[in-house]
Amino acid sequence: GQTVGVLAVQGAFVEHERRFERLGCRCIELRQASDAAKPFDRLVLPGGESTVQIKLLHELGMFEPLLERIAAGMPVLGTCAGLILLAARVGNGGAGGFGTLPVAVRRNAYGRQLGSFHASAAFAGLEHVPMTFIRAPLVVEAGEGVDVLARIDGSIVAVRYGNQLGVAFHPELDDDDRVLEAFLAMGGAESARAFWKSAEAVRP
Ligand code: GLN
Repeated sequence: GQTVGVLAVQGAFVEHERRFERLGCRCIELRQASDAAKPFDRLVLPGGESTVQIKLLHELGMFEPLLERIAAGMPVLGTCAGLILLAARVGNGGAGGFGTLPVAVRRNAYGRQLGSFHASAAFAGLEHVPMTFIRAPLVVEAGEGVDVLARIDGSIVAVRYGNQLGVAFHPELDDDDRVLEAFLAMGGAESARAFWKSAEAVRP
């Protein structure tokens, strides 16, 4: 099995760990700088509160080492707040994450009434997958080389760029492993491209 490093400073990290363990992975909780230096094959940035996560990443000395891993091509999954951490631009405050994924996002893009909802939509290569949204961000702009993997009512909710997979919904909360399995099948920057090329991306 693979070893998955899960950012465990705040948010839904335990839920991700349970799911990846069920899929045969070993999980390492990333809580301090020494954890970020441990060997792991993949990185998971869970949902939660992105502004708090970014602050803690810096305070705990994990920002630079994790950024280096992402930039070096380690496969990374950003779920909800994790997607905000990866985004190059955050339209409405809270920027200053890794910024390695060339997309612009809008935080808390669904109004108060629609803060949380469940939907189902086509996901590149997987047909329909269930999607749970909790005060989710929206991808409002996708840069060159970004594959759009899923949309809800025309709005982008999943993207891939090389080694980086960003989803606005919570694949760890629905009883469907396919998005998590697709992430585990993603290689580094180059092989990730080959993997997703075989999937029929949902084009902008
Ligand atoms: N609203 C949160 C943020 O802006 C994200 C919500 C989530 O991760 N479920 O960081």
